[in-house]
Amino acid sequence: MKSNSNWVARSRAHVWHPCTQMQHHETMPMVPISHGRGAWLVDADGNRYLDGISSWWVNLFGHANPRINAALKDQLDKLEHVMLAGFTHEPVISLSEKLAEKTRQQLGHCFFASDGASAIEIALKMSFHSWSNQGLPEKREFVCLKGSYHGETLGALSVTDVALFRDAYGPLINTCHVVMSPDFRQAADGETADQVVLRAIADVEQLFMQRSNQIAAIVVEPLIQCATGFAMYAPHYLTLLRELCDKYRVHLVADEIAVGCGRTGTFFACEQAQIWPDLLCLSKGISGGYLPLSLVMTTDSVYRSFYHADLRRGFLHSHSYTGNPLACRAALATLAIFDEDHVLDNNRATAEKITATLSPLREHAGVAHFRQRGMIWAFDAVDPRPGFSSRFFTAALKQELLLRPIGNTVYVMPPYILNDEEIGFLGERILAVFNQVMQHE
Ligand SMILES: *Cc1c(COP(=O)(O)O)cnc(C)c1O
Repeated sequence: MKSNSNWVARSRAHVWHPCTQMQHHETMPMVPISHGRGAWLVDADGNRYLDGISSWWVNLFGHANPRINAALKDQLDKLEHVMLAGFTHEPVISLSEKLAEKTRQQLGHCFFASDGASAIEIALKMSFHSWSNQGLPEKREFVCLKGSYHGETLGALSVTDVALFRDAYGPLINTCHVVMSPDFRQAADGETADQVVLRAIADVEQLFMQRSNQIAAIVVEPLIQCATGFAMYAPHYLTLLRELCDKYRVHLVADEIAVGCGRTGTFFACEQAQIWPDLLCLSKGISGGYLPLSLVMTTDSVYRSFYHADLRRGFLHSHSYTGNPLACRAALATLAIFDEDHVLDNNRATAEKITATLSPLREHAGVAHFRQRGMIWAFDAVDPRPGFSSRFFTAALKQELLLRPIGNTVYVMPPYILNDEEIGFLGERILAVFNQVMQHE
């Protein structure tokens, strides 16, 4: 107990925690984690927690994964880092080749950074600069979906429509066009999910008709707007959006930072709509949840628009740790697990079991819009008191579960490695926590 409270006090004194009002930690203690193994995190007092949200959506194959650990140990003794301008190395080459192969060379060029927000910055800069290199410098506006989240640096915030993150910095942020989200929950009486998609597409087309000469790109999270409370929509939207982008010459940027890496059932979420974007951002799961790594993949056409004798027509963007060899090795080990363990196939079976274990919630009177795609489940608590999210989080910890609802939306986004016992545990405990939190309403 001593070590535990000691950590919390030291952390509060000197660590400024992310996405947190630090004063709230006067009453709500943070959880000091000493180690992790598989799907479990263990705190300084030895309490364990099933990591139901993959440590902010990054972990795919468990904590302290033996295969990723071995790859990193091997890489440590070879090369920890070298600058990527003017130099190259085996891990970054192999990773770029393997990812390009996964898009059947449609997105054959990989540009690296370290976090998701930087990947979004790169996509926005690359889109604008590409049009400008093609003699269309007036194409410099961006479009995002209502409620979208694409990260919290100033550029990424400019295409983020979450008031809580955005409002404090309003004067610093460029405006962008916000179009209707295709979220199926907006269906009016008698309206189908597909009709919601058509309404959302009509909204985009109306904007493109008026302003496509000024618009560089539209940024979307394919299939699921995660940080918005897991708004899900039909793949058809992406197919139609691809057509509009071609027709009006607007880049389609797919932010697959959360939904990529098999999370929605295919390696890239876009595959379910049988389309490729012009720019695709990956991060979070790509390093297996081990090291900061992000990248933007793009087409020959965008790449060629920068290819020139003139330095200023090049894409002069860099970060110190661009293409870090350790992070790339972690990513290669992660991709190797996908192949060796037939992860996408096995996840289908795992997902069926998880859906079954959560079925009492689907039927629950206090639950609306129970939804699932791939390895993501979400449902909305009906009319809970304010503070539902933090009360649920606290009650879940007591039940050995790490779950962190967004507003009234509870979601489950576990590592891909849960065994039958852990799946049963997850189902039982979520139901217990939900009943407990809703009973006290
Ligand atoms: C997490 C996230 C980001 C931002 O990534 P960071 O690494 O946190 O900067 C951007 N887009 C989506 C969809 C995300 O989920």
